[in-house]
Amino acid sequence: MIINAPEFQKAIPIIEAIERAGYEAYFVGGSVRDTLLNLDISDVDIASSAMPEEIQRIFPITFDVGIQHGTVMVLHERETYEITTFRTESKYEKFRRPEKVEYVRSLQDDLKRRDFTINAIAIDRHGNIKDFFNGQEDLANKLIRAVGNPEERFREDALRMMRAARFVSQLDFEIEQATKEAIIEYHPLLSKIAVERVREEWNKLLIGRNRKGGIKFFVETRLFQMCPGLQNREKELIDLALFPLQFKGTTIAWTVLVHFLDLKDEAIEPFLRQWKCSRKEIMDIRIGVQALNKRLQQFWDYPLLFETGIEIAMEIEAIIEGFGLPNQSENLIELNESMPIHTLKDLALDGKELLSLLGIQRGGPFVGEIFEELKTLVLANKLENSPFALRDFITKRRMIYLDETFEAAYTVGQKDLASEIGSGTLPVLATPALLAMIENACMGIVKEHLSEGDTTVGIQCDLHHKKASPIHAEITVTVRVTEHRGNKYFFECTAHSQGHEIASAKHTRAVVNANAFMDSL
Ligand code: ATP
Ligand code: MG
Repeated sequence: MIINAPEFQKAIPIIEAIERAGYEAYFVGGSVRDTLLNLDISDVDIASSAMPEEIQRIFPITFDVGIQHGTVMVLHERETYEITTFRTESKYEKFRRPEKVEYVRSLQDDLKRRDFTINAIAIDRHGNIKDFFNGQEDLANKLIRAVGNPEERFREDALRMMRAARFVSQLDFEIEQATKEAIIEYHPLLSKIAVERVREEWNKLLIGRNRKGGIKFFVETRLFQMCPGLQNREKELIDLALFPLQFKGTTIAWTVLVHFLDLKDEAIEPFLRQWKCSRKEIMDIRIGVQALNKRLQQFWDYPLLFETGIEIAMEIEAIIEGFGLPNQSENLIELNESMPIHTLKDLALDGKELLSLLGIQRGGPFVGEIFEELKTLVLANKLENSPFALRDFITKRRMIYLDETFEAAYTVGQKDLASEIGSGTLPVLATPALLAMIENACMGIVKEHLSEGDTTVGIQCDLHHKKASPIHAEITVTVRVTEHRGNKYFFECTAHSQGHEIASAKHTRAVVNANAFMDSL
């Protein structure tokens, strides 16, 4: 056959170099299979009779990425190629790929250890096909058939069963009967395989063109019972199988899977962790699932698009027809273009400027809170994202920022005495009077920031009165805002008199609408 795909042409000099050194080398694996199927190919794999050290001697630049399995990576004209020495995998341990490999000098022996006949075809640099196991016939009949005895092959390496399911989806092939029966029999062995390797095949299955067939096979053979978080989820897997559109990427595929599994937000991360997904994948899928669930209720708006990000949003919109809603990708693109900000960095005010406007030296969690608030207002079209508008908002806005402090001075008067108020018998500052001073000082902060019609009410105070102060004593109360949640402000307060701390307190005030508050009484 003629091998004119550029991927092969570019790699021919590598094979020639190996041959000049007196060894054999062939194209093998998926690229050969896919070329024979007239599909596009990506990476080409090369198998050679030369030992890894011999390959290292032939090429000036090599990397020993998988040398324990006989693979050396060669750099040629800015591209890398994996060259694997002919090998058998005679001793298998615990149904997994062996730790040690045995090198052989014959191509046929190397092809014999490969998983399926369609993957056990080699081509030399002239395009001559070496097909010892009738791989071409199986390709023509769209059949996935184990090389040799299927039971032995799956006992040797249980991952091959998952690869079979992957090829059903990726190539839209059937599984030959004896191969299928062996998988049904040996499916429990899949549990011996590292989950990362299973995931790689599952990912390819999810995005394959016959996902329906792949998942049905995965369910029928009970392979799914050996996979994390999928045990007894047959029904949901069938929902995913029947989902009518092909997934373009794995993120959206997992998103729809998790949607069908109906996992609660807090259950998503543990599920994906079991599958050893990366942090980035977990984050993207979580965002995707939340966005998909909302998108099924409403069209995108600025806040939803901002939280989701245009990439994930586009992926969701591309498959929304699968849920019976019309695809409105164009409207989504328009919305994205008109959205005033796409990240917090797009706000026309930066952290440094914010601190200087507030007259504060050091930032804290409150900076993030303020930016969140600015973001919400800008996305709700309530605040323009311009330097002027944002600065104006921060300076004018009646808002309490954390760590803001306030000091107030009082003198103990006749009416403040315990003996007068009736909270004691001595002529010293009464606890209720001290409490009033503290509340008053806290109001000193909140008052400054109230919007029209609003007022502030004290709702809790935990006061420790430590030392008594007599009439005419001067008292300084210092209060500091430690937290701001919703309409509540939390304060830490101290009172000093004559060089002593006489009290400390934690106080909470709420901001409420004055009329509404009075009506509620
Ligand atoms: P893809 O197009 O997705 O890369 P592929 O068939 O090339 O598919 P690879 O994982 O790149 O898959 O493997 C390259 C080749 O190595 C396969 O075509 C097959 O010949 C052989 N191979 C891979 N994994 C196994 C395995 N577990 N057991 C036996 N042979 C395998
Ligand atoms: Mg490959």
